Amino acid sequence: MIDVTQPEVAFAVQMVRQAAQLAQRVQSGMALQNLTKSDFSPVTVADYAVQALLGHAMETQFPEAVLVGEENSSALYTEAGTQMREVVTQFVGRMVEGATEEQVCQWIDRGTAAPTERFWVLDPVDGTKGYLRGGQYAVALALVENGEVILGALGCPNLGENCAPELLGLGALLIAKRGEGAFCTTLSVEEPFRPIQVSDCDNIQQARILRSVESGHTNANQIDQIAQTLQIEAEPILMDSQAKYATLAGGNGELLFRLLSPAQPDYREKIWDQAAGALILEEAGGKITDLHGAPLDFSQGRLLANNTGVFASNGILHDAGLDAIAKVCFAE
Ligand code: AMP
Ligand code: MG
Repeated sequence: MIDVTQPEVAFAVQMVRQAAQLAQRVQSGMALQNLTKSDFSPVTVADYAVQALLGHAMETQFPEAVLVGEENSSALYTEAGTQMREVVTQFVGRMVEGATEEQVCQWIDRGTAAPTERFWVLDPVDGTKGYLRGGQYAVALALVENGEVILGALGCPNLGENCAPELLGLGALLIAKRGEGAFCTTLSVEEPFRPIQVSDCDNIQQARILRSVESGHTNANQIDQIAQTLQIEAEPILMDSQAKYATLAGGNGELLFRLLSPAQPDYREKIWDQAAGALILEEAGGKITDLHGAPLDFSQGRLLANNTGVFASNGILHDAGLDAIAKVCFAE
């Protein structure tokens, strides 16, 4: 069982829980104040607010730590950003008493550091489209050392029991430390962590496929062709964000494809979109590589520059999945 009193594990668990609560509050708070009809969206407010919360927490708990986040505060210093800055500060101020607009911007910009030998990486709201449509999204935090993810935490406010992809859930909080396994608990209620394990399905025809909702983030036609090649009958499960990795890690799916979208054939994945989910999946017994079977390489700065797309599985079915990808996506 993972020792949740280790300082970095405890920090990741506490911060992902708080950040997910903050994102939920922004969602309901802005709807209540009718702010969603203004010219900025709740997802942008949540992105900034969560990154500020993490920047502040790093400053107080690990002042030497490097944080690589998706956001920076420059847009908040434009005239158009004035109201946004106020609203973001209001939400952060409910969690960090007395926070000023200047502090909030400084905390956001703690996350503009360049990746080094050891750094934290944050996606404040992964799956922005899911967040906006009331679907799946995740707060994703990971610690990378020498190009390898060593700690990963995901907060998925809308996942169901055992990371199942239904929307009625109390949410899931997942944590993994390299070599120590992957664990899950309920996000909205403090309960002990339980170990999670990928599905033991070894019959590819019975595999359940997970993929993005956004057709621009993958190649849905090729996924259909792969399903045909493998004689998979079940319809793919469409989900936004790294909640897909949580679902796979919890045994509620077997194959996860991030193929290259025809509109962006040279797309390279952002490290914050993959780091936490990748480690959680591996520690739950799954496997994750790029579409050619190469391990994900987190030593290349903000992008997985050495990798093409992502393929993740329960491990048992990985080689069969890679063969199908080679046939459908890379056959001459
Ligand atoms: P998902 O929710 O699985 O669709 O993934 C959301 C993430 O996809 C976002 O955080 C984006 O950074 C990332 N993304 C943006 N464009 C692309 C693309 N062309 N291919 C793959 N991922 C993308
Ligand atoms: Mg993202």
